[in-house]
Amino acid sequence: MAGDAIDLVVGCHHRLYRQFLHGAFERREEVFAQRPFGNIRRADIGAVFGLTMTAALGSVVIVGGGTAGWMAAVAFGRLLGPAGTRVTLVESDDIATIGVGEATIPPIRTFHAMLGIDEDAFLLATGGSYKLGIRFEGWTRPGESYVHPFGQIGTDIAGVPFAAQWLRARQAGAAEALGAYSLEARAAEAGRFSRPIANGDSPLSRIGYAYHFDAGRYAAFLRAQAEAHGVIRREGRVDRVERGPAGIAAVHLADGSRIEGDLFLDCTGFRALLIQGTLQAGWTDWSQWLPCDRAVAVPSAADAAPLALTRAIAEPAGWRWRIPLQHRTGNGHVFSSRHCSDDEATATLLAGLQGEALADPRVIRFATGHRTRFWSGNCIALGLAAGFMEPLESTSIHLVQSGLQHLLRMLPTGAPPAPAIVDRYNRTMTGEFVRIRDFLVAHYHLNARTEPFWRERAAAPIPDGLAEKLALFRAGGRIFREADELFNEVSWLAVLTGQDAPVTGHDPICDALPIMAAANRLALIERVVATSLTHMPPPCRRAGTVGPGQDDLMPIAFVLAAAVINLNQLGFRPDDPKQAIVADAATSPLEWVVVDDAGKTVLTGRTTVGGDDAASGDHVHVARFTALTRSGSYRVWL
Ligand SMILES: Cc1cc2nc3c(=O)[nH]c(=O)nc-3n(C[C@H](O)[C@H](O)[C@H](O)COP(=O)(O)OP(=O)(O)OC[C@H]3O[C@@H](n4cnc5c(N)ncnc54)[C@H](O)[C@@H]3O)c2cc1C
Repeated sequence: MAGDAIDLVVGCHHRLYRQFLHGAFERREEVFAQRPFGNIRRADIGAVFGLTMTAALGSVVIVGGGTAGWMAAVAFGRLLGPAGTRVTLVESDDIATIGVGEATIPPIRTFHAMLGIDEDAFLLATGGSYKLGIRFEGWTRPGESYVHPFGQIGTDIAGVPFAAQWLRARQAGAAEALGAYSLEARAAEAGRFSRPIANGDSPLSRIGYAYHFDAGRYAAFLRAQAEAHGVIRREGRVDRVERGPAGIAAVHLADGSRIEGDLFLDCTGFRALLIQGTLQAGWTDWSQWLPCDRAVAVPSAADAAPLALTRAIAEPAGWRWRIPLQHRTGNGHVFSSRHCSDDEATATLLAGLQGEALADPRVIRFATGHRTRFWSGNCIALGLAAGFMEPLESTSIHLVQSGLQHLLRMLPTGAPPAPAIVDRYNRTMTGEFVRIRDFLVAHYHLNARTEPFWRERAAAPIPDGLAEKLALFRAGGRIFREADELFNEVSWLAVLTGQDAPVTGHDPICDALPIMAAANRLALIERVVATSLTHMPPPCRRAGTVGPGQDDLMPIAFVLAAAVINLNQLGFRPDDPKQAIVADAATSPLEWVVVDDAGKTVLTGRTTVGGDDAASGDHVHVARFTALTRSGSYRVWL
């Protein structure tokens, strides 16, 4: 019925709307265990917002057309455009964007879903790839590595969090390393990937993932989306900012034009033209906590067998990143200029390349810290203009998203904006930055490397918040997540154990369950993860493409709905015979359906009842779908 359908659509969007604007509260469950949004009719989002937003803001001017500027433009255009707000973005073709910033974390999927961005279209347009986590190589000592995976790790055991039970069992020698219980960590290492597939309570239903993408292409992709939502792009260099009673009245372009607005978003990158150049919002320096102050970056030829993870490789005076894209690999070396010259850093970077360099290395200088006031007058800084912390956990683009989320919850209702709102925003963003900073510092503080840079980091004072986290962990492995904190208990567990953080004893609540019973449950979880892994397709060179995969194989991702389905292989050549064996007690044929990546049914059929199978002890059915000959990625449903 039409009425039911409308209710459903509004309900879905309302959930997304809440998730986007109130993400901080939902993050506890959602951030690293994102759900798919397959059933959402995205075209209706604007209509829903049209009903709920008011046009209190006449015009918003965004200065800067890098990732931050265009993320803001598409969000404001999409959400406020229907309410009558005019959104203008000014960018200068003469001033380059930063050109890096290509690794993300899972909340970006919420951002994209909220804005109606189609995942396949986005990946194709940006040369993007999937990411299941970050592998830290050599961070404790050379030769050792661990993965900080997205998604959940394990599951509660006897009502006690997995982390506590695992720590106790690990101390007793009765548990595997943490990564064994994470589907994302194992899939990333094994070069496998699948989007989440509806499969009951299995880890396959909850795969947490994010993306790598080409920064330049991402800005261009967002620009097209924003312009489709009515955002006006003005090309030109801002050479004067005019002050007004609310803060900023207008920006003046080199061609003499004047652009006025009610609200200004400073997305001018490290220049911070409005928020600092004009409003002097101040800078809080954090170089004492995170002393790396330079990076050298270079693209190289695409990996032949890319993994769905970002690599962070420790070096004597910093670390290197490797970000696999479809058309190239992004590489960079973040370093401390007190410990390493630009030439040495460049030599280290080039020596570590796995493919041919595609451009000259480029040195980028940066300062670590944040704007003391992110919001001043009627101007809010986003992106590099707001602050920067090195990309160790891929958090900068997330901070743009998070700034937008908070801003959209705190839109001013008049000019000048109410001081209470401005203060609240500044306090919230400062808190976000502080907690991420503490997480980053933990990676450096907990190291056993011998080089002067690393010994200095191990000995340096650490922020109070981190000191408390480490003290709590040391006392029985306790991890507490602060309100609104981006990184959850699982992330802290992965990094603290990966970095060999000291821990004494275990949480006594675990003792209610005998250690052997806990060990058995852990073994079961490990087996479920291992089995789930076998159901994830092998690497696909062009991740995200709906077309032919590697060697023209047709990868089949499949869903375990009512029964256990075993495919005779994971990828098929188009003319190969294709069949699945299904374990099910039913004595009459079962209906099956094959759907393509867009969810469209492409083939249906009924199983042949095979009867009892002596080898497996199961009653089996056979589903044959050899008639499917078009290359692509499909799912089999029963
Ligand atoms: C070495 C390094 C590695 C990074 N890696 C990651 C990562 O892996 N993951 C992640 O999340 N983030 C990463 N970041 C951060 C990420 O790159 C940025 O957060 C993101 O690209 C946003 O940048 P931006 O849009 O704020 O600035 P920019 O890209 O610098 O854009 C600034 C814009 O302002 C315009 N502009 C400036 N002055 C004027 C003017 N006078 N008139 C008109 N226009 C003007 C420019 O033309 C440009 O369009 C990294 C950053 C660095 C430095």
